[in-house]
Amino acid sequence: QAKQAGRNGMRFFDRQMQDRISERAQMENDLRHAIERDQFVLHYQVQVDQHGKARGAEALIRWIRGDGTTVSPASFIPLAEETGLILSIGRWVLETACAQLAAWQTAPRMAQLVLAINVSAQQFHQPDFGAEVRAAVERHGIDPRSLKLELTEGVLLDKIEETIACMQELKAIGVRFSLDDFGTGYSSLQYLKRLPLSQLKIDQSFVRDLASDSNDQVIVRTIIAMARSLQLDVIAEGVETMAQRVLLEELGCRRYQGYLYSRPVPEAALGALVTE
Ligand code: C2E
Ligand code: MG
Ligand code: MG
Ligand code: MG
Repeated sequence: QAKQAGRNGMRFFDRQMQDRISERAQMENDLRHAIERDQFVLHYQVQVDQHGKARGAEALIRWIRGDGTTVSPASFIPLAEETGLILSIGRWVLETACAQLAAWQTAPRMAQLVLAINVSAQQFHQPDFGAEVRAAVERHGIDPRSLKLELTEGVLLDKIEETIACMQELKAIGVRFSLDDFGTGYSSLQYLKRLPLSQLKIDQSFVRDLASDSNDQVIVRTIIAMARSLQLDVIAEGVETMAQRVLLEELGCRRYQGYLYSRPVPEAALGALVTE
């Protein structure tokens, strides 16, 4: 009896494993065709100043599969990274973001927006990444100062000299860099000092319980002090409540992004969030 149950248990386990493997294989196969099938879209989440005015937006990719379901990047970006598909996806994001910026530059209110895009480690470490960004900026005739690239600490810990050189090359034409998910990695002040960043983005894990967790308050205060000493801007992500927003301002943070202002929305809905 016990043996029987064990065997069934094993069979059940195999089935689950198999399902998961074939689901993954199916997803990989679908992902491979997603660009040619035009299944990606960028959604935009506003970034506001202390007066609540939209100063910029972050582009966040969405995958609309053939059956109409939307897949979040948290589930397909890791797969895209493992399979190398991130390179063509990253190129698509850069291209689409620059085309969007070009369209905004002729629209009165949208022209002031700075658009941030997420860049993955693999994409950034391509030897021609800097050239690719410059080419995209030129092709679309956009102001490079309206483009911001979000990198994570992981990206920056690799190939340090090349990383700094690439960032400097882009900074020279006006492109800016924000350090995403800041506080979750291991960058030292010493190291950060060498990077031509313009912004630190406080990770949402420190914002979530900010009102109740005094440790998080200390961390946020420290990040803001670091930013100040490095002469960098700070933005907080994942701001959902007014209590968080008020505390962040008290701690010295003047830029906010989160559901309190808006979820990421399709381009058509962004205009309503951007006022004079
Ligand atoms: P991220 O760059 O740190 O983006 C912030 C994530 O937090 C987004 O999730 C956003 O929708 C979510 N978020 C914003 N405000 C709030 C809030 O108030 N509360 C909560 N709980 N969440 C909030 P999303 O869009 O699912 O993206 C997840 C991650 O996927 C991004 O994290 C980024 O690492 C990656 N990603 C997204 N788009 C791209 C892309 O175009 N290229 C690359 N390489 N990665 C991307
Ligand atoms: Mg980001
Ligand atoms: Mg982030
Ligand atoms: Mg994050």
